[in-house]
Amino acid sequence: MKKKYCLECGEELTGRTDKRFCSDNCRSTYNYRLNSDATNFIRNINNILRKNRRILAALNTTGKARVHRDKLLERGFKFSYFTNEYVTKSGNIYRFCYDQGYLETDNDFFTLVIRQEYVE
Ligand SMILES: [Zn+2]
Repeated sequence: MKKKYCLECGEELTGRTDKRFCSDNCRSTYNYRLNSDATNFIRNINNILRKNRRILAALNTTGKARVHRDKLLERGFKFSYFTNEYVTKSGNIYRFCYDQGYLETDNDFFTLVIRQEYVE
């Protein structure tokens, strides 16, 4: 029979085969961490960033596109969340959600770009 281990502390489990934790203490520690505010906070931000990335990718199928702010907003894009900025020599600020980036141009229009490689 395959050995099973406590999901929290890694202790080998004995007895019932449906057990996941060695003790009540380990179960509550595990569940507390899983649902803690910090965990949820990080999860929510990750979800926002991934959604932003999805929106940009969907609107930019050719590698470069021009879209209006409203088009991004109506899909639920959140401008305050991005993974990094890239400032060009001429002072343009590209903001990225992972590999998908955008640059505000004029009159609420944005140029969407895709970053080919990692830039520090
Ligand atoms: Zn344990």
